[in-house]
Amino acid sequence: MSATRVLVLNSGSSSVKYQLLEMTDHRRLASGLVERIGEDGGVADHTEALRQVSAELTAAGLGLDSPQLAAVGHRVVHGGTDFTEPTLITDAVLARIEALVPLAPLHNPANITGIEVARALRPDLPQVAVFDTAFHATIPEAAARYAIDTATAERFGIRRYGFHGTSHAYVSRAAAGLLGKEPSEVNVIVLHLGNGASASAVRGGVCVDTSMGLTPLEGLVMGTRSGDIDPAVVFHLQRVGGMDTDEIDTLLNKRSGLLGLCGANDMREIGRRMADGDERAQLAFDVYVHRLRRYVGAFTAVLGTLDAVVFTAGVGENSAAVRAAALAGLDGLGIVVDPVRNAVRSSSARLISAESSRVSVAVVPTDEELEIARDTYALARG
Ligand code: ADP
Repeated sequence: MSATRVLVLNSGSSSVKYQLLEMTDHRRLASGLVERIGEDGGVADHTEALRQVSAELTAAGLGLDSPQLAAVGHRVVHGGTDFTEPTLITDAVLARIEALVPLAPLHNPANITGIEVARALRPDLPQVAVFDTAFHATIPEAAARYAIDTATAERFGIRRYGFHGTSHAYVSRAAAGLLGKEPSEVNVIVLHLGNGASASAVRGGVCVDTSMGLTPLEGLVMGTRSGDIDPAVVFHLQRVGGMDTDEIDTLLNKRSGLLGLCGANDMREIGRRMADGDERAQLAFDVYVHRLRRYVGAFTAVLGTLDAVVFTAGVGENSAAVRAAALAGLDGLGIVVDPVRNAVRSSSARLISAESSRVSVAVVPTDEELEIARDTYALARG
């Protein structure tokens, strides 16, 4: 029996998601989620959560001890400048991922625990780290550097790393396929609009700019994150508002974005409230869309010529209202959305641009687990 299955583990700060994929036909054999780690009613810690994942797989007859399991792929949020490719995990690699914890204090420790537990359970199996930052490693210095004192930036690793890289990689490649082209033949803007949201500019399959920065806080308006903000707001809140660093961190990451503007972070609820004439919901939507348009314009200029704008993730795949508003009136840039195509609900990759549109507009469901599984399987097979 040959080993053709890959387990993908996504150990987040308070949850562990898993999928078991059969790589010969990309079938999903099992998937699940252990939530509320460390919270009331949840499991105690990540070690406990991974034991539960292991037990669920065993109960489904797909235990980690299966000889058909070829490898385990781990999503790792921050690869810094060290990791620009999926990487086979060794003790030395794990130590380097640990050294990056200061850049991602919430995420990398959870990822590391996932790796440690999986390695303890199956020390014989190849384990692969797939980094959220890796796809953005090709961004040129002009776009990656912040205009601050060089010595300070270098000492503390302050530069734009970007995140959601596996999604941007998968979706930009799938969009080229939808257009009947090779990734190397097209320039695309990918708008990953989930609870977290980011934009990327991809030239010929190579990422050249992205909206997230040192951390996932920069860029687009998100469910609970502010996105771009004048950094002096932080000093103002410290000096005038008397807030400390942790309070401001929580404000900008957890109490801002759509939630901060209108009290709801789910675009479906915002849509319902807008239909009822709720002005705060309308303003939240307008701020969200305005920021998106800014990035579409900026990244169109970065790319010079644009072949496609691609929407993905929860909001991007499902909200026709956001897609229509984000690209309304951009016929001057060659971007025209077809309202009938845009209104169609589907879980398949599809074009929503008008025949007259020079630039294609597409909706492509993202699949980060499949992307991680492919990278993992490729490395595991050598
Ligand atoms: P995550 O970043 O947590 O992976 P997702 O990509 O699953 O998030 O996106 C979640 C968000 O997608 C929800 O918060 C919600 O705002 C939005 N969403 C999901 N379904 C719809 C829908 N039918 N219409 C509008 N927005 C939706």
